[in-house]
Amino acid sequence: MRSPIPIVLTLAGLLLAPLAPAAETRPDRGFTIDKLADGVYAVIRREPPGLATHANNVFIVNDEDVMVVDTSQSPALTREVLAVLRTITSKPVRYVINTHWHDDHYIGDQVYREAFPDVDIVAHAQTFRDLPVEGARNRAQMINGLPSMIAQLKDARPYVIVGAFVIAAVVTPPDVLSQFMLAVPMCLLYEAGLFFARFVVVRRAEQTAEPAETQ
Ligand SMILES: [Zn+2]
Repeated sequence: MRSPIPIVLTLAGLLLAPLAPAAETRPDRGFTIDKLADGVYAVIRREPPGLATHANNVFIVNDEDVMVVDTSQSPALTREVLAVLRTITSKPVRYVINTHWHDDHYIGDQVYREAFPDVDIVAHAQTFRDLPVEGARNRAQMINGLPSMIAQLKDARPYVIVGAFVIAAVVTPPDVLSQFMLAVPMCLLYEAGLFFARFVVVRRAEQTAEPAETQ
């Protein structure tokens, strides 16, 4: 059985999300814009840790144009970032730099290509060699691996329930009520994790269904 740790992290993140730094946090988007210096802005992702990760981005506003470092896990997320960039400057994006081949750093490239046909996508030569090999394999694994992981977690449900009650018996005072008060929420969290994992699978399927234009 695969580790349920990602699910637990997702849940922990959801529970702790209200404690995250509040700077410029808006409920309608998953990131903040931190001004690092004149013309330099960091897009810091604030989503709780989960099954998917999202890269931070950087805007460097030059005299004539803009350089963007890394894009996002999906075109939709990248469009949100670009919308905020447009509120900072009307200068065109001339360069997009992909630091490496991980999905969350380059899938949104196409959004900048659509919006700025002259944009140059810049990366290390090794990144372009890795993209169709390691990158493609990694993405296929993420898409195909999640449903089987969820199936494994569902199979493990009886063990999780027994385990939750055993742990609750050990760490709570020796009465049945305390044991239930700990074990039942643990089981509910597990179910919630499965629910959210299914939600992620559907979202991913939708995102990858968007036509991907490669540079
Ligand atoms: Zn990465």
